[in-house]
Amino acid sequence: MLEQIKKKLAKGNAINREQALYLLTRADLLEVGKLADGLRRAKHPHNRVTFVVDRNVNYTNVCQSECRFCAFYRRADAADAYLLDYQAIFAKIQELVDHGGTQLLMQGGLHPELKIDWFEELFRQLKQRFPGVRVHSLSPAEVIHIAKLSGLSMEECLGRLQSAGLDSVPGGGAEVLVDEVRQEISPNKIGWRDWAAVMEAAHGLGMRTTATMMFGSKEKPADIVEHLFRIREIQARTGGFTAFIPWTFQPANTELGGETASGVEYLKVLALSRIVLDNVENIQASWVTQGARMAQVALFFGANDLGGTMLEENVVAAAGVSFRLSQEEIVEMAREAGFIPAKRSTTYDIITTY
Ligand code: SF4
Repeated sequence: MLEQIKKKLAKGNAINREQALYLLTRADLLEVGKLADGLRRAKHPHNRVTFVVDRNVNYTNVCQSECRFCAFYRRADAADAYLLDYQAIFAKIQELVDHGGTQLLMQGGLHPELKIDWFEELFRQLKQRFPGVRVHSLSPAEVIHIAKLSGLSMEECLGRLQSAGLDSVPGGGAEVLVDEVRQEISPNKIGWRDWAAVMEAAHGLGMRTTATMMFGSKEKPADIVEHLFRIREIQARTGGFTAFIPWTFQPANTELGGETASGVEYLKVLALSRIVLDNVENIQASWVTQGARMAQVALFFGANDLGGTMLEENVVAAAGVSFRLSQEEIVEMAREAGFIPAKRSTTYDIITTY
């Protein structure tokens, strides 16, 4: 089977689900890594590794969804529940701008009271104050929640958010795009078709988005394969995904609990992502969940991007994992691994090469 897969890839053809499952469950890690590395080098021959200077702003931790894998959310009456006001959000964005940042990743819980006017007014004011900041914010689950709360269709809601200043949508909340898995880990959250519908609607409006996968919880290998093919199929229709980001479930402080995926599992899934997603340009290494050393290794298993500098990160930190890296450390990390570090925009235009 491996020889068959190698031949297919060498001819530039896509592999099928059965072959992907073979690579994930039966093939040797280094063989899969070598294939992914070859594909990454062919797609990105300039030897550059990119990153974006960004900040997460988690505007609220109040969330009605109560996902079993999430250590971040709080019920509205919890002592440490919060909702940031506009001024607090602007102060955080000012810090981002002071650090030369370009991307705002604003995400929160599914708050029971925040309707579309709260977001429209926020984005309008934000764009006036910080015209150079790219608003890469809200996940598909938040868009659908805001739409329902405001009595709007999802498409109407997304269109209004875009008019107010939303530039692009991050692919958070994808977890695993198989409803049987979602039922187990996040029974109150949108199903995979809704996630896909928001992404396709965003692409239809000319927004670029990313796609993610959180694995290592309750899914089976075949679910990981299905997830990758579902992303691949959406991309074939719209071409709107800029990047794919696989990351691992962090069990501490969650209802679900259990173990996190091993480094070997992470690298295998990362490499498989590069191999299956031949129509997605960029594959991100997740140093936030894997740490800097593993992220360096990931650059030889298909990844070409180190994601954001994340001036602030609360969601993974709530699960007790807090890797922190400065812009200089990210540059050094890429350089030490033998690559040319480059600062990029949200849409992967190169801003500075180091
Ligand atoms: S993962 Fe998101 S939607 Fe689920 S409980 Fe956490 S904040 Fe809410």
